[in-house]
Amino acid sequence: MLLENMTWKEIEDYVRKNKVILIPTGVYEEHGFHLPVSTDNDIGMYISKKVGDNLDLIVAPLIPFGISRKTREFPGSIMLQFETFKHLIEDILINYLENGFKKLIIFSFHGSSNHLMALNEAAYTIKRKWRNEPDVHIYIISSKDISDNRIFKLLKSIPIHSGELETSIMLYLSENLVKIDKVIKEEPKFPDYELLLTGRPWMKSGVMGDPVKATKEKGESIIKFFIENLTNKIRKIIEN
Ligand SMILES: [Zn+2]
Repeated sequence: MLLENMTWKEIEDYVRKNKVILIPTGVYEEHGFHLPVSTDNDIGMYISKKVGDNLDLIVAPLIPFGISRKTREFPGSIMLQFETFKHLIEDILINYLENGFKKLIIFSFHGSSNHLMALNEAAYTIKRKWRNEPDVHIYIISSKDISDNRIFKLLKSIPIHSGELETSIMLYLSENLVKIDKVIKEEPKFPDYELLLTGRPWMKSGVMGDPVKATKEKGESIIKFFIENLTNKIRKIIEN
């Protein structure tokens, strides 16, 4: 069930029986010539809703703004500063704790290392603040954590940004948003060791990988495995 569609009374009743909340986070960022900038948000929210249904869990509103440095400066990539994003996550976690939730599960389909690091730092700060409450637990699960060999076996290329995996899933979820005639393969080469403000000069389309190999059928199977894996991981968390 989606928190945003519930009344405060329904949420309060839920928290009396169930202390778990699933918090999806994503990002708006370029996804090549062929996918919309909300790709990570759309996929992450779809998975979260299905997992929420499977486990009868409250799914919090998506936090749609995140961090991804390589795609910065492409129009539609909206990047928060590391500190801003960390503070945003902290404030949101504090609210859910004040509401009575005890197991806060953050799920990010967006897997950029800076984004995950900020989530981690925010969770760490809050965990320290609530250190005297042993019932309070915070979990961070990313798309990498719910990938497995069943998914890799379906793919003919490495699953990177806007490549075969994301394009296949979007063909299955929202075929009308995929500009299939604009699909191209690109493997940008970035300078070694250098700190980059954006990856744009080295990326022409914004794709990293081979979306040409994407199919709707693969997307259907991959999303099914993602949902199954996240459901199983959260089921274990709930039972603990
Ligand atoms: Zn993506």
